This record gives sequence, C-alpha cells and structure tokens, in this order.
Amino acid sequence: MDYQSNRIGQIPPYLFAEINKKKAELVKSGVDVIDLGIGDPDLPTPQHIVDKLVEEMQDSSNFKYPSFIGCAEFREAVADFYARQYQVNLDPETEVLALIGSKEGIAHLIPTLIDPGDYVLIPDPSYPVYKMATLLANGQYYHMPLLKENNFEPDFSLIPDEIIEQAKLMFLNYPGNPTAATVDIEFFQNAISFARQRNIPIAHDSAYNMVTFGEYKAPSILEVEGAKEVAVEFGSLSKTYNMTGWRIGYVVGNKQIIKALSVLKSNMDTGQFTPIQKAAAFALNSDQSCVSNHNAIYEERLNVVLDGLKAIGIKVDRPKGSFFIWAPVPKGYTSAEFVTNVLEQTGVILTPGSAFGPSGEGYFRLSLSVPNARLFEAINRIKQKLQISVN
Ligand SMILES: *Cc1c(COP(=O)(O)O)cnc(C)c1O
Repeated sequence: MDYQSNRIGQIPPYLFAEINKKKAELVKSGVDVIDLGIGDPDLPTPQHIVDKLVEEMQDSSNFKYPSFIGCAEFREAVADFYARQYQVNLDPETEVLALIGSKEGIAHLIPTLIDPGDYVLIPDPSYPVYKMATLLANGQYYHMPLLKENNFEPDFSLIPDEIIEQAKLMFLNYPGNPTAATVDIEFFQNAISFARQRNIPIAHDSAYNMVTFGEYKAPSILEVEGAKEVAVEFGSLSKTYNMTGWRIGYVVGNKQIIKALSVLKSNMDTGQFTPIQKAAAFALNSDQSCVSNHNAIYEERLNVVLDGLKAIGIKVDRPKGSFFIWAPVPKGYTSAEFVTNVLEQTGVILTPGSAFGPSGEGYFRLSLSVPNARLFEAINRIKQKLQISVN
C-alpha cells in the first residue's frame, strides 16, 4: 500500500539526497569532505541575541501560546527596521506578520493565494520551495528564465498571455539564491508596474537583504510607490544574524494578503515561541555592527574563492550580495557531471545549478559558509586533482 497522497507522490526525490549519500560514503571511507553545498551560515548567532533569549526564558509570562500575528515587540521592531533601512512605513498591526522562518510563510502563501490549477510564476533557477509548495497546493508553475545577459532578471514580456491570465502569484528573490544576483530599484519599479497592469501579486523573498558587499545596499520592493497594492516581502533573521535554527522571519506589505495568510496560519500553527520573537526584536533594534562584521568575513572568503576560481580558469562576476558564488562549469561538463567529478576526485561538495531549475544547467553554486582555510584547501584540491579544460 502506498501511504501517501498523489500530491506527495508527485514531489520529486530530494535533489540533494544523491549528493548527501555520496558525502556519507566518502566520510565513512575516511575522506576529508569540504562541504561548499550548504546554505547555512557557519558563524554563531551574536552573543547579545543569545543573552536576550536566555533572559526572556526566565519570564514565565512568555510561556503561553503566542499571539497569532506575532508579539507586538517583534512586529514593531520589523516596522522600525523598514522605516530605518528603507524609509518605508508599515503598520505593525496590519502590514507585518511574524513567521516561523520565512520558508514557512512562503510555503503557506501559495495555498493562501491560489486554487488548484492556478499558475505561480517562478524564477528559474530559484529556491526550490516556490515550486514544491506550488505542486503541494495542486497549482502549476511557469518558469521565468534568469539569464546572465539579463543580469539574472526575468523578462516579463516573454510570459505568454494565457499564463498571465491564470497566474495568481509571482515570486522574485534578490539578492538571489542561487544566482547571487542583485538589482536596483528600477527593476522593482518595472516588476510592480507589470504586476499592477496584469493584476498579479508579487512575493519578494529578501532573505539576503542585509548580506551585501561594498557600497551596495539592497533595495526593498516596498520602496516602489504603490508597491503595497500588489506586493508582499518576506524577510528573515536567519541569514542576517546567523539564526537559521531559531526559525523566525516575517512578511510585510499588502494588508489583504497578510490577513489571508494569517487566516490560513492561525488554523495550522500558533506562531513562534515568544522568547524567540522577543530576542529577534532585540536583534533588529540593537547595534548592527555584527551584520557588517559578518559581511566583512563573507567578503574576505569571496576574494579567496574568486581568486582561486580565476586561477583555475573559471571566471565569475563579483557578486554584491548573498553568500553564494554562481559560476559556470568548465567546457565539456554538465552541471551534474562537473559536481560529481569534483566530489569524487577532491572530496569537495558543490551544488549543481540544474538542481535549482533547468536554466541552472551549466552552472554550479558554491557557498561561502566555511572558513578561509577550508576554501583555500578546496580550491587547491580542485586545481591539483581536476583536469579542467579551460579553453
Ligand atoms: C534561506 C532562505 C530562505 C529561508 O529562510 P528561513 O527564514 O530560515 O526559513 C528563504 N529564501 C531563500 C532564498 C533562502 O536562501
């Protein structure tokens, strides 16, 4: 007997399962594996945030069911952050909703907005949750190819009319995972104007909004005039403060969408543990030098890898945000072949671009969430062991 719904049955096997299996085998046979596949910061959560959690844990009034929309301290801290960072005003009561990590909110937004058969417009390549949650909601997805020659921005004019008519949601994500692409406000202006004309809500995933390098500052889609009529933006404490395991994020913007999502959520979960929300509020309200310190570390690692890849003959444009490098595979390999080759010959794990969608073919993703010494080692092994034809 097959104890699963057709909905679950149609979800393809976990794309990273094969790599994980190989990793386990190599580790078992004594190989010193360097995992550059993980999208999880290696640095610890800053101590002042941990201390705040411990303090809130001593207050038993925090132990009850949390409020469905999130505690006032957290929602106000998010609204204050938007005012400070983007000069965007948000009503903490109606335009901010706390999430158990942004992944939870992204996945639940889809059944909030679509009925079976409706389309969701999804960047290709992208974070796998957009597509999988669409399939789980019995929806259909349309891939918007992200091409290097377009700065990995979708070309809205290529989306067929009949798809647009059945589309109930579009996802965008900048700084992007896996492409590390960043945009200026002009791109969001175009996106909002398209969304308003064609009446398609936009969900912008800004998980890496604060992971940026040099002078670049990532804009919020809500900075665009009229954006709140059609858009929501997902944010997370995970990547900014190395809090992936804490599970705390938020969605901000359009009131109706947020209200509808909170109806769904209030029937499924009861919110995140209040001490975590209060520590997250404290993180947003405190001195932000920890964020620039983390970014400086990523930037140093970025330099190590860019120099190393260049020496191997792999040329990559310098990313301005995220902690990923999105690089072309050398000639003569598919993404999967290259990644498998590198793993077998060097014990270095990379992620094949094709795992993020068909337009990811020809690329691999490398994560900067390991220390410099390991990055040096990884690059050296690839340089020495791998016969790459770079002509
Ligand atoms: C990490 C990540 C998320 C999920 O973040 P959580 O808040 O930890 O759920 C969402 N989107 C992208 C693109 C990510 O890389």
